[in-house]
This record gives sequence, structure tokens and C-alpha cells, in this order.
Amino acid sequence: MAPRTVIFIGPQGSGKGTQIERLRTLLTGRDPMRRVVDIQTGRRFRALAAKMETFAERKVAATLDTGVLQPDFLTHILWGEAMLDQLDPLAHLLIDGFPRTVVQAHVLEDALKFFERPMINVVNLETPESIVRARMHDRARADDTDESIENRLRWYREDTLPVLAYYRERPQTVVHDIDGQQSVDVVHEEIVAALGL
Ligand code: AMP
Repeated sequence: MAPRTVIFIGPQGSGKGTQIERLRTLLTGRDPMRRVVDIQTGRRFRALAAKMETFAERKVAATLDTGVLQPDFLTHILWGEAMLDQLDPLAHLLIDGFPRTVVQAHVLEDALKFFERPMINVVNLETPESIVRARMHDRARADDTDESIENRLRWYREDTLPVLAYYRERPQTVVHDIDGQQSVDVVHEEIVAALGL
């Protein structure tokens, strides 16, 4: 099986984390000789905020629960470090939480070139805002307040939807549009089929 580069895009609450976990398990079972590198910027921001020692850690902690987008440079440091530690051209790569702006997409482009990964699969988990609002209320994470949910939906519309447009134009890229309202199992099956696994 050729190594896959899969970028998950969808609003918070669209099920990206759950689907990545399912895909990781499937890839590990079907292709045990190849590593699966799974990078999540949200988790890395929360780990950074939890330290509370430096100015930057305290500043991220103070803003993270409001749902605003963190600065591009910090995002690049966090995923860049993860790639430096773990990535090579042979591993499968699953990406959750970036790029969320077109600037981030340009920097990721540079990184994927460096790691010799020209082909990109984008899984677009299309999920209406009404569904996403209800799911975020139910999961009750610390940053799932009304203000934070609305902030995150706003930057998703304004900053992240243009990233999808960018990938629809990019050569050697396939954007798979998947209906995120379906059950976890059906979404998983559609992702597996879309990636030709
Ligand atoms: P998530 O766990 O993906 O929902 O991300 C949690 C929070 O981390 C977001 O609300 C943002 O504040 C921050 N974050 C995660 N990824 C990014 C990113 N690519 N760019 C900017 N901020 C991010």
C-alpha cells in the first residue's frame, strides 16, 4: 500500500477525531510494516496551555477556551516539531486541526514538499452548523461554551472554507466530500472507500 497523506477538514464537532482514530486502527491492521503518524494541533495547543510556565503558555491558556484561532506561527511550530520528530516519506500521515487558514496551507505545502509527499487526500466532513452546535453542547469540553462555539464556527466559515477552495484547485490533490451527518460507521466506510483502502 502506498503511503497516504490525509488532511481532515470539517468544523469542530464534525467527527474528525473519531474518524482519524478509526482510520489509524484500520491502517495499522492492514499495513503493519508502515508507521501511522497522526498530528493534531488542538491537542498540542491544550498540552502547551496546561504547562502555564512561560508567557506564551499562559497567553495560550488564557485565550484557548474562547475558541479564537491561535496565531499561525505557533501552529506551525507545533505541527512542525511533530513532523521533525516523527515524519518520513514512508509513513502514513493523518492530519487533524490544520491547515485552518490559507497561510497555514501554504506553509504545509512547503513541509509536504520537504517530506517528499506530493499527493494529498483531503477528507471534507461536511456537517451543517445546526448539527455541530448540538454535538458541541453535548460533549461539554472546557471550550464548548456558547461564545467559543460561535467563534469557532465563524473562523471556520471565514478562514477555513477558503482552504477547501485552495485544495480543490491544487494539482495532485483529491478532495473527498463526505456527509458528516451520517453515523460514525457509515462515514468511516465512505472514507475507506474514498481513499481506496
Ligand atoms: P481543536 O481541538 O482542533 O478543536 O482545537 C482547539 C483549539 O486549538 C482551537 O479552538 C484553536 O484555538 C486552537 N487551534 C487548533 N488548531 C489550530 C490552527 N490550525 N490554527 C489556529 N488555532 C488552532
